[in-house]
Amino acid sequence: MDKRIKAILERDGSFDDTFYYGVKSTGIVCKPSCAAKIPLLKNVEIFSTLDEALNKGYRKCKICMKEKNKITIYRYSSPCGVLMLGSYGDSLCLCDWQVERHRNHVDNRLKRILHAEFEEGVSPMIEKAIRQLDEYFAGKRCEFDVPLLFVGTEFQKKVWNELLKVPFGQTISYGQMAAKIGMPKAVRAVANANGANSMSIFAPCHRVIGSDKSLTGYGGGLPAKEFLLKLEHVL
Ligand SMILES: [Zn+2]
Repeated sequence: MDKRIKAILERDGSFDDTFYYGVKSTGIVCKPSCAAKIPLLKNVEIFSTLDEALNKGYRKCKICMKEKNKITIYRYSSPCGVLMLGSYGDSLCLCDWQVERHRNHVDNRLKRILHAEFEEGVSPMIEKAIRQLDEYFAGKRCEFDVPLLFVGTEFQKKVWNELLKVPFGQTISYGQMAAKIGMPKAVRAVANANGANSMSIFAPCHRVIGSDKSLTGYGGGLPAKEFLLKLEHVL
């Protein structure tokens, strides 16, 4: 069997971008990995490029060639590390430390859930976030009003929204936070959700510390957490 036919039958994504197949009965062109129903092989026409298929009158499949959304990415140099800002539509969807050890995981989660690709640049929302961060780091801003889009599980979103209620210059322990969301026993889960927060500063997970007042951990590194708490006159 032609290895390309085999790839279609197995929806083998490793063949994506090496060839495309048109379905004569529908007039639609697909990638090998397409999740749509596998066509009868007698209707399949193989193309080595997408253009060949389009020139022949095929239309792009809405399942495997859906246009990707765009997340605009900007690297903001703060006094305590580089933050990756991301905007999606009219919201900020990312403000996370570039050195964060879950970097790829967080980026891939955003791309997958928002069906989007990263594109370096600026957008009105990024500009607004930059202005507010500049003011915050200059000690001239205690609150933010940038629209945030949290991308995560329902539980994570619950925890991240709770972070928004911790005011500038105050701290809360993981245990207190678990109690606040009505799940006093979920201290570890709350700590994990905090660790997965990809909206640093705006959703101030740096204000969450251990019940013994130790700084515990931080995605941007403990020196960054210490810096932020000093900026807020907590330390
Ligand atoms: Zn398709």
